[in-house]
Amino acid sequence: MRQVTILGATGSIGQSTLDIIARHRDRFTLYALTANSSHVKMQQLCRQFEPRFVVMSEADSAEHLRAAIADLPTEVLVGEAGLAQVAAAGEVDVVVAAIVGAAGLIPTLAAIRAGKRVLLANKESLVMAGALFMDEVRLHQAELLPVDSEHNAIFQCLPPGGIGQPALESGVAKIILTGSGGPFRDVDIEQLENVTPEQACDHPNWDMGPKISVDSATMMNKGLEMIEACWLFAVDQSDIEILLHRQSIVHSMVSYLDGSVIAQLGNPDMRTPIANALSWPERIDSGVEPLNLLQVSQLDFTLADEARYPCLALARTAWHRGGTCMAVLNAANEVAVEQFLQRNISFMEIPRLISKVMELSSTGPADNLDLVLRADAAARAMAHELVASGAR
Ligand code: NAD
Ligand code: MG
Repeated sequence: MRQVTILGATGSIGQSTLDIIARHRDRFTLYALTANSSHVKMQQLCRQFEPRFVVMSEADSAEHLRAAIADLPTEVLVGEAGLAQVAAAGEVDVVVAAIVGAAGLIPTLAAIRAGKRVLLANKESLVMAGALFMDEVRLHQAELLPVDSEHNAIFQCLPPGGIGQPALESGVAKIILTGSGGPFRDVDIEQLENVTPEQACDHPNWDMGPKISVDSATMMNKGLEMIEACWLFAVDQSDIEILLHRQSIVHSMVSYLDGSVIAQLGNPDMRTPIANALSWPERIDSGVEPLNLLQVSQLDFTLADEARYPCLALARTAWHRGGTCMAVLNAANEVAVEQFLQRNISFMEIPRLISKVMELSSTGPADNLDLVLRADAAARAMAHELVASGAR
């Protein structure tokens, strides 16, 4: 029996993880579930799964939940201290890091420092603090397993022991990261200025939370994933090729020196990479429909048009500048996406705002957490100021 904590249990990844755990109650028990404020959804999850602990980040939501589940043995904790407790508790074997954005960094690091098996969905935490994140993984011998479908695919295509090891030392020539291109891949570039949050969140192949849906539409998601892959597989961005693949069936590939290209294929359903990481090195049923290649019939690959997706170049610049620039990129993007979702800025203002924040920020080494958090806070403040003053 493995005891599992799910950080961000009420979100899209959290729900997919719970779906798998519900199918394998003989293998997994739930130690803790966490959420920001959705206490009604959490109440439902508590009744269904009876975890030992629940953490609500917002104090009011914790109060509501406490009253609503007074008849259950589940204990309700609050805030960052609660998150750190359930991420690092001695009884816990597996921590699923599925909080969205920089808010996931501290609890994910707590799980790593406790040497857990950490299933990483929260790519933002690795992007903003990559060097120290991977140092902590090594120092505390945590077992980091990627849940992001592309990185889980690459992990499956690499020789065993791939995480944190320089992939090029295993005969790898390059990593091929695939992406669907999002909902606007066929829309006229001039039209992009006027697209709405609803259209941006309506992804053709994947059903995801709002932030990553907008990131997919701008392809900042692929930019963040390029940086994520650099850290996970110890490669440089020049070792990674990004290809648009509209069917989202090939989740990524590894190209070897001998000419072999190994790919991982499957239906676009996050339960596959989550199940893979939960049970690795075993394989368990995930509930995902078997892939019908006859029905798919065609697999297309093209290059991403950088004029359509300026966020790709911004991510490359951030990796190139290094250090705290990646925390700046991530923070500016989080603010830009939130402002777009609130209809305060247009879709194409997202890359313009990020670019401006990167241009105006002084960046430097990111070798401790304090430096990363300070860069994050400064970039957020600057992005908010630029939006408020209309300068973007
Ligand atoms: P989501 O918005 O559906 O869920 C986010 C979860 O985090 C919720 O449980 C929410 O309560 C919690 N949360 C939000 N803000 C918080 C805060 N400030 N403090 C504490 N908890 C907070 O997001 P999602 O789509 O499930 O994505 C989660 C992470 O997984 C993201 O980093 C995303 O990039 C990554 N990811 C998601 C998918 C996907 O298919 N959804 C695929 C790959 C990677
Ligand atoms: Mg992905």
